[in-house]
Amino acid sequence: RAKQEGRNGYSFYTPEMQARSVRNLQLENELRRALERKQLQVYYQPQVALEDGRILGAEALLRWQHPEFGAVSPAEFIPIAENSGLILSIGEWVLRTAMSQLKIWMDAGLPPMVVAVNLSAIQFRHHNLPDLVTQMLDEIQVPAQYLELELTEGVAMDDPEGAMAIMNDLHGRGIRMSIDDFGTGYSSLSYLKRFKVYKLKIDQSFVRNIVEDSEDRAIVSAIISLASSLGMQTIAEGVETGGQLAFLQEQGCDEIQGYYFSKPLPAEQFESFVREAQDNKRSF
Ligand code: C2E
Ligand code: MG
Ligand code: MG
Ligand code: MG
Repeated sequence: RAKQEGRNGYSFYTPEMQARSVRNLQLENELRRALERKQLQVYYQPQVALEDGRILGAEALLRWQHPEFGAVSPAEFIPIAENSGLILSIGEWVLRTAMSQLKIWMDAGLPPMVVAVNLSAIQFRHHNLPDLVTQMLDEIQVPAQYLELELTEGVAMDDPEGAMAIMNDLHGRGIRMSIDDFGTGYSSLSYLKRFKVYKLKIDQSFVRNIVEDSEDRAIVSAIISLASSLGMQTIAEGVETGGQLAFLQEQGCDEIQGYYFSKPLPAEQFESFVREAQDNKRSF
């Protein structure tokens, strides 16, 4: 039938678009059952202090292993979860899993670390987010200071007044906020200075070519000095090489996250990684 419509000129979908929407529908259906089928997992990627090589914390990153589709990238399934409303239950599960894991690590005697959890726009704007998070921390018995919530620049700046009210509420409850993918959106600096933000995460697109691209270097050092003037920390994402690390260190960036140090790891591997780093007292 699609062929016929095409011939008559009534089809607005190319075969490629059609294939994509079929996959999206399949993924949405499968995502509905992914939680109960235990196909979702949280991985942890270390965040490291450039000053002394200490692991300060981890970013929690969601993974979906589907028996048929294999590993589906969050870049593909998070938007599907957002459009279908599934992100609320999935996001709550990620928060709960990450906080419970942190509690296990604390009880096992790992050094205190902060776990950063990504929030989608829908979760962030949902009226009960601050209460939900506070109740969860109470229940799991993790002090609020060990949770960081990552919000993309786009979400924060989309409705800055609204975002500020939510950030103030979370900040009042002792929860840290960071701005993810910083530099890719359009920040109003007059809002940025009023946001209760602990850390700017420099997007990996600027980090990728800092060694060879003088414009990227200029952007990264401008972000670092801006953050420093506003009393915020900086973390560079996607650091893969020693050359990138050296430049970031020279510019006074506070932390790095990237394959240079470690990929995102399953919880048990992350724990071994931290213990090993403790034994070897790494430094740059
Ligand atoms: P993000 O929050 O900006 O996460 C950083 C991404 O960079 C992750 O991709 C991470 O695996 C990747 N990465 C880290 N170091 C390197 C590196 O050295 N080189 C390169 N090339 N990549 C690196 P990932 O895990 O595929 O996640 C993609 C995006 O999906 C995340 O970007 C975030 O926006 C979203 N996401 C992941 N987990 C969640 C979640 O639990 N909730 C929500 N709402 N979004 C999530
Ligand atoms: Mg993030
Ligand atoms: Mg990012
Ligand atoms: Mg991103």
